Amino acid sequence: MKNEATSVSPTGLPRTAVVGVLGGGQLGRMMALAAANLGVRLKCLDPAPEAPAAVAAEHVQGHFRDAAAIEDFVKSQGVDVLTMEIEHVNTDALMQAAEDVKDKFAQKQHFTAHGVPLPQFRNIKCRGCMEGTGRAFGYPFMLKAKRLAYDGRGNYVVRSETDIDAAAAALGGYEAGLYAERFAPFVKELAVMVVRSRDGKVVSYPVVETIHKNNICHVTEAPADVSPAVQAKAQEVAEKAISCLEGAGIFGVEMFLLGDGTLLLNEVAPRPHNSGHYTMDGCVTSQFENHVRAVLGWPLGETRLTSGAAIMLNLLGEADGEEGVRRAHETMAKAYNTTGCKVHWYGKEGMTVGRKVGHINILATTREVARARLGRLDPGALAALQ
Ligand code: ATP
Ligand code: MG
Ligand code: MG
Repeated sequence: MKNEATSVSPTGLPRTAVVGVLGGGQLGRMMALAAANLGVRLKCLDPAPEAPAAVAAEHVQGHFRDAAAIEDFVKSQGVDVLTMEIEHVNTDALMQAAEDVKDKFAQKQHFTAHGVPLPQFRNIKCRGCMEGTGRAFGYPFMLKAKRLAYDGRGNYVVRSETDIDAAAAALGGYEAGLYAERFAPFVKELAVMVVRSRDGKVVSYPVVETIHKNNICHVTEAPADVSPAVQAKAQEVAEKAISCLEGAGIFGVEMFLLGDGTLLLNEVAPRPHNSGHYTMDGCVTSQFENHVRAVLGWPLGETRLTSGAAIMLNLLGEADGEEGVRRAHETMAKAYNTTGCKVHWYGKEGMTVGRKVGHINILATTREVARARLGRLDPGALAALQ
């Protein structure tokens, strides 16, 4: 893996560069579209025969968890810079830094060592550890898988001692790599995208509130409806967390806001993040463009909001098959007929319940107007936000 782009222009910026992306889903697709606007070629490695990213990237079929496939991809495709759109890649071929952020337990140990505030957590190796955790943390507590977790798959709320066996079994047993976390009684979940340059400079985006539906990101609102002091603190925690990592690119930082104003970090995703999709239309520079700029060593773009408020509504499959497609199209049709709405459709084949098939960014000069527009598209989503 070379770290420089192939040729450098008189301004010091690489003239041509091939960015290789591990994974070719919707994040790779949006990254590829942003890269295309910068004149940067993107190639993605994805095992699926059809990859959403193929609309703007060259798709190479192969598995992003297969070290030999990654090596071959880099060599045969002339990849100058390798990056990823998902966490669950084979990191033998990537940096140790990525390895650490991928393992949620190692991530938490790392952040604790650097003074980043987190819910209390502990390693879980046996049934006895679970009983001890119940006594120490109280119930409920969270049991989590250390690796390969997303959209809440890999989490289990342990409500009482009688849940212990079912919880451990659901996450693959004690051998799978488990840890426990004290339950955070949050009043809101917040997220901040942070972009990190190759020389370690970090710049954060505005603070957003995230609303989940069945553990999947459903709605985000920027700026989050919290005090300026909480906004500043959330950006400070997020920047601190990313400052103590390595590697260039965009990071999604998820946090819990407690009733007394305390902020606790939940987890960091070392990639573009659903809570940053609003930046595509709501900020001067999208998270995808800034990711590409960062991995290439280019100057980072401005992160401020260009409108008063930006709400993102995820289009999540509401039913399998045709019925799900029909319902998603109904919401999109409303968006096309509503001021301030921008539709992003990922062009995925097939529809299943809960699948992320697109999102809509809703822009307005005020939070109230943005919310009213959201209510037109999806009254249930508005209710979840209020
Ligand atoms: P993602 O799709 O964001 O990667 P994930 O599977 O990695 O999700 P987490 O972010 O760890 O899972 O948790 C998912 C959700 O579960 C959180 O957004 C939050 O709503 C809830 N949750 C997680 N940890 C805790 C905790 N310690 N206390 C209370 N709620 C929690
Ligand atoms: Mg996660
Ligand atoms: Mg999460």
